Amino acid sequence: MQFYTKVLIGMAIGVVLGFLLGPNSRFLPATGAILSTDAQVVASEGGTKLVPEANGIDRVSILEESASDPPWLKVSWTLTGKDVVRLANSGVKAVAGEEHQGWILSDPVKARRFAPLGQSLVDWTEWIGRLFLAMIKMAVVPLVFFSLIVGMASLGDFRKLGKMGGITLGFFTATTMVALVIGLSLANILAPGDLISDAEKAILLGSYTAQNVVSNAAGSPSFVDQIVAIVPSNPIAALAKGEMLQVIFFATMIGVSLTLMDLGKSKPVIQLCDSVNEVMVMLVQIAMKLAPYGVAALLFEVVGSTGLSVLVALAAYGGVVILGLLCHILISYLPVIVAVVRLPFVGFIQSIRSALVLAFSTSSSSATLPVTMEACESNLKVSNEVASFVLPIGATVNMDGTALYQGVAAVFIAQIYGIDLSIADQMTIVVSATMASIGAAGVPGAGMLTLAMVLAAVGVPVEGVALVIGVDRILDMFRTTTNVIGDSTATVLVGRIQGNPLRIVSPEEDAADPSAGMEGRLDDVEPQPVRADEHDEA
Ligand code: ASP
Repeated sequence: MQFYTKVLIGMAIGVVLGFLLGPNSRFLPATGAILSTDAQVVASEGGTKLVPEANGIDRVSILEESASDPPWLKVSWTLTGKDVVRLANSGVKAVAGEEHQGWILSDPVKARRFAPLGQSLVDWTEWIGRLFLAMIKMAVVPLVFFSLIVGMASLGDFRKLGKMGGITLGFFTATTMVALVIGLSLANILAPGDLISDAEKAILLGSYTAQNVVSNAAGSPSFVDQIVAIVPSNPIAALAKGEMLQVIFFATMIGVSLTLMDLGKSKPVIQLCDSVNEVMVMLVQIAMKLAPYGVAALLFEVVGSTGLSVLVALAAYGGVVILGLLCHILISYLPVIVAVVRLPFVGFIQSIRSALVLAFSTSSSSATLPVTMEACESNLKVSNEVASFVLPIGATVNMDGTALYQGVAAVFIAQIYGIDLSIADQMTIVVSATMASIGAAGVPGAGMLTLAMVLAAVGVPVEGVALVIGVDRILDMFRTTTNVIGDSTATVLVGRIQGNPLRIVSPEEDAADPSAGMEGRLDDVEPQPVRADEHDEA
C-alpha cells in the first residue's frame, strides 16, 4: 500500500475513533464531569453547605442523578497529590488518595459531562502523536540551518538574494491583506455572531477561561522589537531555542560569507553542510514512517476532545472561517499557480499533499516545515536555495489562514457583544491582524493567542476569545493547511522567477523511481547507493 494511502487511513481512523470513543463521545457513558471554577459542590442534594475540599477540584465522577427538577448529581472525587498541594496552599487540610463525595446541580456549564473511558483512551494514546511530532521537530532547526547555508552559498549573485527576499515578503504581505479582506467581508455579510443564542453564549463563555490567553498575549513583543530581534546576539542560543528568524538570519550570513571566501577554504564547509543536510532529509523520511500512527493519535485526541455542543453552537462561525479559507485558496493562490507559475493547480496540491496532511493533523506549520521543504524540492523541483530561503521564512511569518481567521473571529465576537465595527475599525483589524499573524509562531493555537491583540486594537473585550476557544483546535487544522499552501505557492513563484526548472513529478514516476520524488522514497527507506555515487561525482 502506498505511503500516502496509509496516512489517509490513519487520519480517517483517528477522526472516526475520536467521535466514537473520545471523551465527548455520545456512545460511552458520560459518568465524569468537568467543573467550572465557580461550581459549588454541596453536602446534600439541594443543600447549601459548601464542601470546601471541592474548591480547585476540576474533575469528578458522577455516582447518581436525582429525579428532582432540576436534577442534582451525586459526585465523588479522589484527591491527588496536586490537589493536596493546591488545597494546602488555601489552608485546607487534605490527604492524597482520600475519597470525597458531594452533590452538584446538573448544569452543562458548571458541570460539563464527559466520558472518563474516552479520556483514558486519549491519555493512553496521546504519546504516539507526541512522539511522532518530536521526531519531525527534531530535524527542523538543523535542517533549516544547514540547508540554508548550502542554498545561500550556491546563490552566486547577491542581487538574487535581494530579489528573492523582495518577492517573498511582497507576496506574503499582499496575500495576507487579501485574506483579511475576504475574511472580514464574509463575516460582515454572513454575520455568524447573530446566530448565537444567549444560552449558547453562556455555555461558550462558561466552559473555557480566557485568562491564560489574555495574559500570554499581553507579553507579545511589538513589531519593531520583532524586526530588531531578528539579529541574534548569541546564535548558539538562537539555535538551541529554535528562534527561527534568528536561525535564518545567521545561516544566510554564513552562506553569504562563504561565497566571499577563498574557494579552497569554503568548499569543505559547504560540502559538510550539504552532507549534514542530506542526513536531516533522511531523518525526516524515517520519522515520516510513523506518520500513519502519529496522525491517527493526533486526530483522535483533537476530535475526541472537542465537545459536540460547542461544535454545534459555533458551526456557523467555523463554516465562515472554512469558506473564507477556501475562497482565499481559490482567489489568491490558484491564479498565481496557474497563470504566473504555469503549473496545474491540482498537480501542485498533489505534489505537496504529504505536507498538507501533516499540517492538518499537527496544526503546526513549523513542525511541517521539513516535509514542505522536501515536497517542494523533490516533487516540484524547486531549487534548494529557493526552498531553504522562502519556506522557513514562510513558516515563521506568513500566515494567511491565521490572519483570515482572526478577521472573522474579531467580527464574530464583536457581533455577539453587540459592538458595531466601523470601516475604520475594520481597517485597524487589517493592520493589527497582519501584524498578529506575522508575530504568531507556527505552532498550534498561536493565532488564538495573538487574536487578543487584534481585539484590543478595536476595543472588543479580550475575554471574548473564550467564545471561540472551543473550536479553535479544529479551525487551526484548516488555517495551518492554508498557511502551508501559501508558503508553497510563494516558493514555486520565487522558483519560477529565479528560473528553476519546475515540473510536477507524477505519482507514477515517483513510484517507478524512488529517487525521483518524495513518497517513493517514503515507501522504500533503504540505503540508497545511487545517492552516494551522485555525491562522489559532485
Ligand atoms: N497553527 C498555525 C500554524 O502553525 C498558527 C495559528 O494560526 O495558530 O501555521
